[in-house]
Amino acid sequence: MVEANFGHTRPEHIVGLRRVEELKEWQGRRIGAAVTWRRLEDDGPRALAQAARTVGSPQIRNAGTIGGNLATASPAGDGHPFLAAADASIELISAAGTRQVRWDDFFTGVKQTSMAADELISAVVLPDDLPDRHEFAKVGVRNAMVISTVCAVVSRRDDGRTTVALGSVAPTPIRARQAEEMISSVARPSPSDRAEFARLVSAEIRPITDHRSTEEYRRHAAGVLCRRLLERCLR
Ligand SMILES: Cc1cc2nc3c(=O)[nH]c(=O)nc-3n(C[C@H](O)[C@H](O)[C@H](O)COP(=O)(O)OP(=O)(O)OC[C@H]3O[C@@H](n4cnc5c(N)ncnc54)[C@H](O)[C@@H]3O)c2cc1C
Repeated sequence: MVEANFGHTRPEHIVGLRRVEELKEWQGRRIGAAVTWRRLEDDGPRALAQAARTVGSPQIRNAGTIGGNLATASPAGDGHPFLAAADASIELISAAGTRQVRWDDFFTGVKQTSMAADELISAVVLPDDLPDRHEFAKVGVRNAMVISTVCAVVSRRDDGRTTVALGSVAPTPIRARQAEEMISSVARPSPSDRAEFARLVSAEIRPITDHRSTEEYRRHAAGVLCRRLLERCLR
């Protein structure tokens, strides 16, 4: 609707999905594409619920869905870092059948996905073994009704394996693999380990300067945010 209101798109046909009940189904690790942020706020895995609570306003959260967030493929989509941190897959359906695409094969660029023109997102599929702890946070120009300048999820398992996923710092959601590797090998990260972790996150991302922020601020904020999220996971 935002695109249509700005005259960027004039679709010839519009298909309403709100009454397709199957898309609202949520069974265990399979979350239907039409599950709203409102439902995710209450029942989602911790970091996804945290992300849901930051999306827009109550009105937006009552209407907005995880499937719409994915299909938009905005670099600032707040649902994306959790899916990247958890290595989730996207289930796509068309007349030809159903297929699952891993998150890193789904996002192909700014507002670009590998979804074919005749495909619909039917669900998000999370792995069975979600990390023991996972935390989301975002930085924006205010605390509510704000598009992320940087958003991130850090997850950590009891054996130390850590994942770090960020949004708004590259054309697609990304993982900070060097930072992950470094911190996963440290059983009890010291303050200097955590500072090095933040430095690696800041160095690895690919932010740009745009109307929301500068490249320099995004690098700084991403490092600080991920260090704080790691510290929450370590408590
Ligand atoms: C005021 C405002 C504040 C917002 N704040 C945030 C925010 O803080 N964080 C954030 O991440 N987003 C935000 N958004 C963006 C948006 O509302 C959310 O990303 C929402 O989750 C989109 O879901 P939707 O169901 O409303 O999708 P729609 O807006 O209805 O659709 C978006 C696109 O996805 C396609 N689509 C929808 N469902 C499917 C499907 N199942 N399969 C294939 N394609 C599909 C549509 O065709 C369309 O191209 C905001 C939007 C507004 C207007």
